[in-house]
Amino acid sequence: MKKVLVTGGTGLVGKALEAIIKKQGPTEEEWFFAGSKDADLTNLAATQALFTKEKPTHVIHLAAMVGGLFHNMNNNLDFLRNNLLINDNVLQTAHEQGCIKSSHAYETMVHNGPPHPSNYGYSYAKRLIDIQNHAYNDKYGHLYTSVIPCNIFGPHDNYKPEVSHVIPGMINRMHKLITEQPDTPEREKVFTVFGSGKPLRQFIYSLDLAELMIWVLRNYDSVEPIVLSVDEIQEVTIFEVAQAIATAFEFKGKLVCDTSKADGQFKKTASNAKLRSLLPEYTFTDFESAIKTSVEWYRTHYEQAR
Ligand code: GDP
Repeated sequence: MKKVLVTGGTGLVGKALEAIIKKQGPTEEEWFFAGSKDADLTNLAATQALFTKEKPTHVIHLAAMVGGLFHNMNNNLDFLRNNLLINDNVLQTAHEQGCIKSSHAYETMVHNGPPHPSNYGYSYAKRLIDIQNHAYNDKYGHLYTSVIPCNIFGPHDNYKPEVSHVIPGMINRMHKLITEQPDTPEREKVFTVFGSGKPLRQFIYSLDLAELMIWVLRNYDSVEPIVLSVDEIQEVTIFEVAQAIATAFEFKGKLVCDTSKADGQFKKTASNAKLRSLLPEYTFTDFESAIKTSVEWYRTHYEQAR
């Protein structure tokens, strides 16, 4: 019996994995979803204790210090150090405790020139995982691989505006704008899109990503990273993201761009050609309906949302 340990198991992707596993019914694996309460993965002894207790044969390593553009810009040193520590502790412990297969998520343009200066701490820490995977393969023959998703969104995201990525950040801010000051007519309310609204992003729905990660776990036997992204044609502008969220909320006010705020990287288009060669038929959830579901989730859970 395979035993899968999911680190970062209570976050955006961990919760989606749990939902998909539940939907699939009895699986060929036993799963354990570890959250920060189960172990502080920046600490080696705590990481070892978690592995000793759960005895995984496989690891899906999702735990990381993550955040949106504005959080990264101010905290590159912490993003670099915490992620280096977490990754080294998890990989080395997986090796010491005999895990044969492991996959790790990171979102960035892969080794395609230096990372964008706004998030170099996070990006370099994540890029090193691929180097480590190869080194464990060279020395021990382990199948540790990395998956590279585009930007992810869905239920259970982190909605705190100071740290969040664009979609949960906008959902939180638009919900506040609509519900606060009920005496102001909605038509007079103005929603601010940070930056020019022109940057381009590909977004994958967390439940789609979860399905693909389970497929990687079961079927993808290579150390070379695989991009898990929607097709290039599904790339959208940040302004279009704001429009989709406004439609989901049925927001009747105006959307304006605040160009005094940073845009970050203009685009980070990723090709999913490898994924498409292996899974040509996979259909991603339509962006607008995934946004609608995410907004609905937030509306019913915002009091408990992170
Ligand atoms: P990135 O994809 O790593 O750059 O991170 P984000 O998801 O944080 O930001 C993507 C883009 O959305 C950037 O161009 C931001 O300027 C823009 N943006 C617009 N409104 C918001 C917002 O409310 N929160 C965040 N985080 N970004 C926003």
